[in-house]
Amino acid sequence: MGTWHDYLMTEGQPPEWPYPIKFGEEKELETDVLILGGGIAGCWAAISAARQGAKVTILEKGDVRRSGAGGPGCDHWCNVPGNPLSRVDPDTWAIEEMKAGGDFSNGIGIQIQCREDWDTLLEMEQIGGKIRDTDDEFVGVEGRDDATKLMISPRYSAGAGLGLPEGYGKPNFNPPETRNNMVIRIWGSTFKPALKKECLRLGVNVMDRVMATGLLNEDGRQGNRIVGATGINVRTGEFVIVKAKATIISAGGSGNMWFMDMEHGGYSSMYPRNDSSDGTAMAWRAGAKLTMMESSSPYRIATGLKHKWYTGGGDASYENIPMVDSKGTRLPYATQGWEDGGAMFSDGAKMRAGVKSGEYVLPFYADFAGTDPKEANATWNLMLNEESTTKIMVKTMTEGGFDYKRDQIMNYSLMEFQGSQQYREPGRGGLMTDWDLKTNLDGLYAAGTATFQPGDHSYAAATGRYAGRKAAAYARSTEAGKVCREQIDREKARVLAPTTRKGGIEWKELHNGLSRAMQYFAGEFKSEATLDLALEEIGRIEKYAVPQLYALDPHKLMRCLEDLSLIEHAKIMLRAMKERKLSSPALGLERVDYPEADPEELKNYLVLRQEDGEVKFERVPIRYWGNMKEEYEARNGDYTGVWKPEK
Ligand SMILES: Cc1cc2nc3c(=O)[nH]c(=O)nc-3n(C[C@H](O)[C@H](O)[C@H](O)COP(=O)(O)OP(=O)(O)OC[C@H]3O[C@@H](n4cnc5c(N)ncnc54)[C@H](O)[C@@H]3O)c2cc1C
Repeated sequence: MGTWHDYLMTEGQPPEWPYPIKFGEEKELETDVLILGGGIAGCWAAISAARQGAKVTILEKGDVRRSGAGGPGCDHWCNVPGNPLSRVDPDTWAIEEMKAGGDFSNGIGIQIQCREDWDTLLEMEQIGGKIRDTDDEFVGVEGRDDATKLMISPRYSAGAGLGLPEGYGKPNFNPPETRNNMVIRIWGSTFKPALKKECLRLGVNVMDRVMATGLLNEDGRQGNRIVGATGINVRTGEFVIVKAKATIISAGGSGNMWFMDMEHGGYSSMYPRNDSSDGTAMAWRAGAKLTMMESSSPYRIATGLKHKWYTGGGDASYENIPMVDSKGTRLPYATQGWEDGGAMFSDGAKMRAGVKSGEYVLPFYADFAGTDPKEANATWNLMLNEESTTKIMVKTMTEGGFDYKRDQIMNYSLMEFQGSQQYREPGRGGLMTDWDLKTNLDGLYAAGTATFQPGDHSYAAATGRYAGRKAAAYARSTEAGKVCREQIDREKARVLAPTTRKGGIEWKELHNGLSRAMQYFAGEFKSEATLDLALEEIGRIEKYAVPQLYALDPHKLMRCLEDLSLIEHAKIMLRAMKERKLSSPALGLERVDYPEADPEELKNYLVLRQEDGEVKFERVPIRYWGNMKEEYEARNGDYTGVWKPEK
């Protein structure tokens, strides 16, 4: 058919909405464990809870088969020190990783990841995910182990875990004897379909295209136990009420708060738009504790606003491909990573100086042609093909004639590690949890990106699997709580409000207004005055724009509700930024009116929640989780390791 324009020219009018509209109608159901968001963490939570015998329901805004940041794929399974080739001990490595994350890392999540990641990966294999080079496509490639056929990522060296000095995360091949062998290259595009299949096989009630909108507190009172949630079917508009003994928030993070890019369809081209603050907003309204909400950082990769295709130059999926300038001069790998305390650094400035002085001549290229073809093949056909949406680029470029044995790809990433400072992401804030991944609210758990200072795909998988286990145990130990009809009615009215209007302000316009406010007043530099301006501007948006927000169909209603979540999330962040009267690279907070930080204040997480609608702050000491090995072991004596498939 071609473009939308072509369609209208041929058909004369837009197509009818293809699903029955059921605004106002309700569906009610009960479950033991309710999972909000069927991404990586959510699927693993569902599988492990179902394996514990719990009745499980997932509400997923998209289709679990491909939804979320990990839906299209993944090429690195990180932090898997329990694998048979690993040269580091899981508990030692967990401490290394926790320290590498700086003062404000998440020791609980990292410990779970380091202890259970390998088991999770083996279960992934059991259910149909591809984790080894079983077809012998990459024999002879650096890091491939012929006995196990695992593809170790050769760029990671062990650092202190092996008694070696630094080196963790440095790009390119490290000599085999210094490798830690605890990052495995995998075929991640096979994972999400396998997870959905396993959920269905286990009898999980997978409710695709249902957006969770609000948590239900016992008796409707903020701060009370969580007894279920509400949702909206984003195709029919039907309102869904789920009563649950335990609920897990696994709705990802928020990739779009500072970002509304019309060139890219209104989205960040890195994060799925679906991950738009809903989990944070729901938890906040219910009275859950959030932390690190003052932190933000510039987009690092794949915004589509930089001169590069995905990342590159020795980083992530491009890790083995050297960079050259236009004269063919090999460029040094720019060191990119995290400083002690969590600030990001790169040698981009040196590169820029080299360009100015004429030492390096633009354009720069990722030199596939100059790489050993075996390694280039592994990068092109395994890593970039599996990594994510990069699969589409590999396919398109291959069809267009790109040959990894002969060609290069233009790539300026060595100069552009960090993006423009006003395009930021709220990455590190999230739900505060205990060792059960339980929040301060009974019955409410968190996993994956929904937790504070989260890790990546395998972190989401391992924490999801763990939260599912703990939530199922809680559900076994309790009776269902009482939902409150008044709270349901309030939520229903909030959710359906945009459908009561036929015109006014569309979701994109509202999102654009919010992003602009964040870019201007909560960009790189912040002060009491700019943060107040941001809150004032958002207050105006709420007063004048929100009451005009309209949705003509259930899909646009979903986008409207996401905007409302983004607004809530933005306000929480701004309040936290105001409360933290300091500047700290570790927190990604630069307040020009408070350039220094009281060292005592930096020894604490700033935690906030609502009580009877009022914002309450508290300080919780960093490293509040205690001795990671001991605390983990004290609570997981009953952990049985890898699931034994039924005969
Ligand atoms: C382009 C890209 C490449 C990446 N590559 C790698 C890699 O190679 N290795 C690696 O380790 N990590 C990688 N990551 C990171 C990894 O994908 C994420 O860390 C992981 O997916 C996080 O899992 P999650 O379950 O927390 O969130 P997600 O997988 O994003 O899942 C969240 C889910 O919640 C759903 N949802 C959101 N709101 C609602 C709502 N209100 N109601 C119902 N459902 C909702 C979403 O649709 C989504 O399915 C990559 C990420 C991106 C974006």
